Amino acid sequence: AAMRDTRTKKTKTVCTFCGVGCSFEVWTKDREILKIEPSENAPVNSVSTCVKGKFGWDYVNSNERITTPLIRQGDVFVEATWDEALSLVAKKLGGIKETYGSDSIGFISSSKMTNEENYLIQKLARQVFGTNNVDNCSRYCQSPASWGLQQTGGIGGDTGTIKDIAGAGLVILVGCAPAEGHPVLATRIKRAQKLHGQKIITVDVRRHEMGDRADLFVRPKQGTDYVWLSAVTKYMMDQGWHDEPFIQKHVNQYHEFLKMMEPYTLEQAEKITGIAKETLIQIAEMIRDADGTAICWGMGVTQNIAGSHTSVAIANLLLATGNMLRPNAGAYPLRGHNNVQGAADMGTMPNIFPGYQSVTDDQVRAKFEKAYGVDIPAASGLDNIQMLEAIDKDEMKAMFIAGEDMAWVDADSNHTQEMLTKLDFLVVQEIFLSTTAQFADVILPGAPSLEKDGTFTNTERRVQRLYQALEPLGNSKPDWWILTQLAKQMGFEWNYTHPSEIFAEMASLTPFFSQCSYDVLEGWNSFHWGSPDGTDTPLLYQDGFHFPDKKARFGLFDYVPPVEFPQEFDLSLDNGRLLEHFHEGNLTQKSEGLNYKFPKVFVEVSPELAEERGVKDGSLVRLVSPYGAIRLPVLVTDRVTGKTVYVPMHSSSHESAVNLLTGGAVDVVTHTPAYKQAKVRMEVLEFD
Ligand code: SF4
Repeated sequence: AAMRDTRTKKTKTVCTFCGVGCSFEVWTKDREILKIEPSENAPVNSVSTCVKGKFGWDYVNSNERITTPLIRQGDVFVEATWDEALSLVAKKLGGIKETYGSDSIGFISSSKMTNEENYLIQKLARQVFGTNNVDNCSRYCQSPASWGLQQTGGIGGDTGTIKDIAGAGLVILVGCAPAEGHPVLATRIKRAQKLHGQKIITVDVRRHEMGDRADLFVRPKQGTDYVWLSAVTKYMMDQGWHDEPFIQKHVNQYHEFLKMMEPYTLEQAEKITGIAKETLIQIAEMIRDADGTAICWGMGVTQNIAGSHTSVAIANLLLATGNMLRPNAGAYPLRGHNNVQGAADMGTMPNIFPGYQSVTDDQVRAKFEKAYGVDIPAASGLDNIQMLEAIDKDEMKAMFIAGEDMAWVDADSNHTQEMLTKLDFLVVQEIFLSTTAQFADVILPGAPSLEKDGTFTNTERRVQRLYQALEPLGNSKPDWWILTQLAKQMGFEWNYTHPSEIFAEMASLTPFFSQCSYDVLEGWNSFHWGSPDGTDTPLLYQDGFHFPDKKARFGLFDYVPPVEFPQEFDLSLDNGRLLEHFHEGNLTQKSEGLNYKFPKVFVEVSPELAEERGVKDGSLVRLVSPYGAIRLPVLVTDRVTGKTVYVPMHSSSHESAVNLLTGGAVDVVTHTPAYKQAKVRMEVLEFD
């Protein structure tokens, strides 16, 4: 709305710094961001925001933004027009497709981009280039959770909303630190604890803020969550504390499940997880006594080789105790990026079209082939880990990477960088000269969320509109525009003039979204996908589980013990977020207001270990893993114990980034890197 000063305007937007999905108005004057104003109309956060949402936006005006297309010439990038850059990309990728075939090209999409842009990237891969080689960064984080929920209930999404988490009698936080990673959601839990006596169990190898606030804090050995979850489930069933009528009515594979649970006695669990038998019983009693249990989980679960199977164990526990199909209970994988959920929903994955429609399903594929006017391969494509393997085997020749800093965030990032140098042609669509962009042949400057229209989908499957607050900086362009122009250069009739048209096309092909449109999403309105008839569905599975007989299935996937390391790597390395920053830090570290609050990374060392090694606060140490080495100052803290050390993941320095240490092991199902199963040795460099 125009105000007295006509250059000042306020625009509704959706926050991009985590999956909670706070919305608010941003006040701008020309390019200046005056303030962020939350509103009672915001469906997720009302008048709350956290420090990132409130102060994290100056990066849009950073002088490090790429504001014009760039083409590599030898060792330097040369400025180009859009026409030059796009026609070169079309010519090169077209040529590689001709010579080596469609599957020699891979596409990586971004969970920071809008739904519409994610839809277009999968369409670009499948229609224009004829390949299912398309993936997004949920491969690095939440694929195991989605897979686990698909196996058991049929849909890979939160089973309720944040309101249901706040309304639960008991919240169990497993391997997630919402006070740091999802602050406004944590505030809702803290308030429920204070006002309604909600109980909290926090299970983590590091005692973060929600560990301090928990009614029960439990510290398992790294990578053993599957075992305590299964032991608690079995114990509850042995005691008759499960929900037999619910299981009989709604869950298949009961007998097979009982058999599979047999080895998971409390004694066995204590031995493997290090959690005392009495504590396991206490967890079971708290679930028994609660009016609704909600389980939230994050990377502490998923970034393990047993990540998928552990996500199934969480769903099994909830099914056994009747904590599904009801409000104020259920399964809540906490999505990290603002649009992790949306990127997967839009089909930027090698095995699914938008709305989790399988590429191997002939009927579904026929529908998309008809809509796109091309043949689409009947087999799944490669995920991003397999794409790197294909480069190594000389089978993948080119990649198109949009808004994803693979060369920096991949586990064993040295290896990823080596693979990128082997490509014949690399296109990177980015807003900054990221580590990945430095390997590019052509860089296409996209636009951040404040500079475009679109929609994001938060952790609770809630789709929300964001409106353009600023013009794209310099000669940069909204990412949907770039993708549209590229498809045109390749001879395809993409005539989108606004993201609403892209959304409408997606919705026409995707049953979950069939009743949703920009009209439905106008202003502060929102929409939860998940109903087979395409209506708004805050509580998932109202109509039964998403299988033909409408029954859930106990997942029958057994424990996978953690990766083994040579003995010299004697310390377990944990890693994660700090409140003020976001992932690898490539946006938040360009916001002055936030950098000031958190200048450096460090390694947290337990008091016992500090004494044993003779280090104190500020001592400089070198951490060495089988994959690389970094240098950091020590912070002695009892947040970690014994031989576990913790490094925040936000470093932007090649000296101290934790992913130089993490390794090549992956989740056995989804190939999500086991970032949380790393081991290091510590060398003391300086004592003062
Ligand atoms: Fe943004 Fe998440 Fe903070 Fe909300 S909680 S303001 S979505 S970073």
